[in-house]
Amino acid sequence: MPENIDHLDLDCEEIKLALETDICKNCINVVVGKGNSNSEILFIGEAPGRNEDEKGLPFVGAAGKNLDALLEDVGLSLDNIYIVNILKCRPPENRDPLPEEIRAHTPWLIKQIKEMKPKVICSLGNYATKFFLSLGEVEKMKKQPGITSIHGKVRMIDFVGLKIKLIPLFHPAALIYNRSLKVEWDKDLEIVKKEIN
Ligand code: URA
Repeated sequence: MPENIDHLDLDCEEIKLALETDICKNCINVVVGKGNSNSEILFIGEAPGRNEDEKGLPFVGAAGKNLDALLEDVGLSLDNIYIVNILKCRPPENRDPLPEEIRAHTPWLIKQIKEMKPKVICSLGNYATKFFLSLGEVEKMKKQPGITSIHGKVRMIDFVGLKIKLIPLFHPAALIYNRSLKVEWDKDLEIVKKEIN
């Protein structure tokens, strides 16, 4: 079992469902979120990597540096946003999330969203974006357009009874492997700046 579960409500069905998955049984820490959960802006990534698993916090590795730079650029800090992932635990070797893992972990994410009631969600990369475009229906995720065609295209979604502005962005890790995305990324930053004000 993960090391940092003492502070969790282990009677909560949504949390129990995630903790029962193999990736949770085999990780070091669960990664619940960081930042201000009372804010109006939520950033959502894919899944914890090695550094995140070790620290129990999202986006503390190389991808986190790109995200920090984005936040600074648009005038945001951990005081006015919250950051989470689609999965709460690291998949082995950072493999892609499986549909059954997304199904088991996102009820907890949805619980967080219902409590937080964000006005804006910045979905980072394909998994987070497709989850929201499918309005949480995991079996519809495959049919959604990829992040390359819809990054920076803002839309309103009606998600679990909340009206939310969805801003799809490239995953910050993609910039590490593909520097040519930087031009698009910078344009998207301008969109984030405009949409959060
Ligand atoms: N990538 C993610 O999607 N989330 C993290 O927390 C770190 C890297």
